[in-house]
Amino acid sequence: MNIIFLGPPGAGKGTQSKLLEERYGLVQISTGDMLRAEVARGSETGQQAKSLMETGRLVPDDLIIKMLESRIAQPDCAKGFILDGFPRTTGQAEALDAMLKASNKHIDVVLFLDVDEDILADRISGRFTCAKCGATYNEVSNPPKQDGVCDSCGSHEFKRRADDKRETVVERLKEYRKLTAPILPFYEKTGRLHAINGMLPTSEVTAQIETVMAGQ
Ligand code: AMP
Repeated sequence: MNIIFLGPPGAGKGTQSKLLEERYGLVQISTGDMLRAEVARGSETGQQAKSLMETGRLVPDDLIIKMLESRIAQPDCAKGFILDGFPRTTGQAEALDAMLKASNKHIDVVLFLDVDEDILADRISGRFTCAKCGATYNEVSNPPKQDGVCDSCGSHEFKRRADDKRETVVERLKEYRKLTAPILPFYEKTGRLHAINGMLPTSEVTAQIETVMAGQ
């Protein structure tokens, strides 16, 4: 089973992808996480992406398509994958289509996490993760049970993404509106697009997704 998660930044794609990964034994592929790892390594890709990411702009299609293509060719993806943060432009959607056809694969489900734009900025600026195990939290909607202690691993260290600052979020939302939202009709035409209300509590969003998955 191959899945695409669409939705604006802060819609909950990462959180829901991780839950699906565990529940269905799929591989989560987050192009944002891959790029952050490249930036941390200081690779050529990382150097090309760094300043664009810091200012909330998308990195060029050719760079991201090459990176994604080599990732989905890896053996662990044979059991199925969840694309989180890709495709983000019409060019990427078309390139994905072509690369899947060439390897006899296809997308089974496209999940669109629908969240009103006016609540996204607050959501994003409130989020943070455990520096040790990566568990995700939000100051308002999902704080750790004990203040300053990770629920999952007990660590006291947390981190925030550099691009979750309010001014960068504004730019990321602009990029989403201009370049990513226009790909929704592309997937609507395939009949595989399912809109999910992403404004409900996390467990209710998961329940909606599970209903869609049960129908596959
Ligand atoms: P994300 O973690 O998905 O929010 O992505 C963080 C940043 O990485 C984005 O704001 C972009 O700068 C870059 N990025 C991630 N995925 C893509 C993509 N598919 N196309 C272009 N840029 C991307």
